[in-house]
Amino acid sequence: MTGSPQWLSMETRVKPAVFDYHRPDNIEEACALLAEYGADARVLSGGQSLVPLMNMRILSPAVLIDINRCRDLAYLREEGAAIACGALTRQSEAETSDLVASRLPLMSIAMPHVGVRASRNFGTVCGSLAHADPLAELPSVASALDARFVIASSRGRREVTADEFFVSALTNCLEPDEMLAEVKMPAIAEGAGCAFHEIANRAHGFAVAGVAACVEFGPDGRCSRARLSAMGAGDTTARLSPVEALIEGQRLDDALIRAAGAEAAVVADPAGDVHADAAYRAEAIGSLVRKVLRQMQGAAVER
Ligand SMILES: Cc1cc2nc3c(=O)[nH]c(=O)nc-3n(C[C@H](O)[C@H](O)[C@H](O)COP(=O)(O)OP(=O)(O)OC[C@H]3O[C@@H](n4cnc5c(N)ncnc54)[C@H](O)[C@@H]3O)c2cc1C
Repeated sequence: MTGSPQWLSMETRVKPAVFDYHRPDNIEEACALLAEYGADARVLSGGQSLVPLMNMRILSPAVLIDINRCRDLAYLREEGAAIACGALTRQSEAETSDLVASRLPLMSIAMPHVGVRASRNFGTVCGSLAHADPLAELPSVASALDARFVIASSRGRREVTADEFFVSALTNCLEPDEMLAEVKMPAIAEGAGCAFHEIANRAHGFAVAGVAACVEFGPDGRCSRARLSAMGAGDTTARLSPVEALIEGQRLDDALIRAAGAEAAVVADPAGDVHADAAYRAEAIGSLVRKVLRQMQGAAVER
């Protein structure tokens, strides 16, 4: 007997459930489709998270809106004191961009930690943000940079902060008819340093914990502004505000760095899973805070 058994219909032979597929040519068409299909639809950008979830049937959207033909969304450009990154900018484009290297060095140093080269060639910066994984690097980079998220729908545009955008694990603040059109990230300030470190159980695997930091120094060498964001510290990417308050206005000496690490371990509220228990993650975040601040200490000295 040849061929598939009769009970194995076409629907069960392919990995994802059946869906309708739309390929708009610009953001207006994409938004019109979102307005039409709402919660039944998902935006497909790089597909590096969405397609595996569909293949495992964890997600089964009835409609896919593939934005890969929306060339109006593929850009990285300077806009005043910020860099604007459109929804179709690939992670690999940001990784190799001179503009990003000079104006958003935090993103440049974090990007090689995001998956593997092949996933970065397809995966988009905005797709990673929209996916809102608390263990993803780019949400924590965006949060430490005080990024603004530009949200589009056929009703118009609105902007939100990272705190407003990331709601909980794998949940963002987008309404069913909205998409993330762009993220605007303030360029690094004069006299600022940045650092990113993470701990992962295996090379190129998802991290167990990570910390992204931007620290600005005044002419007296004291920290004038600190922004630290942690991955794995809770069910969403989280700013370590009590740590920031502890170091602002101070010199980054060894005692302060130790105190900041201890405070980070206390304020982190991590979950445990098969990769690390909660206590280990809290310790790891404390240790990563010490590591990024030691690097910043070097930046203050150079200044
Ligand atoms: C082998 C491998 C390793 C990986 N390792 C890591 C890692 O270490 N760290 C890490 O952070 N990520 C990792 N990833 C995930 C990768 O970074 C994805 O690219 C990213 O999570 C999603 O980006 P995407 O453009 O592929 O989005 P998609 O997979 O297309 O979409 C992801 C989700 O976001 C929604 N979405 C996408 N774009 C928009 C938009 N513009 N507006 C509204 N909603 C939108 C989709 O509907 C979907 O729900 C890995 C992926 C692979 C395949």
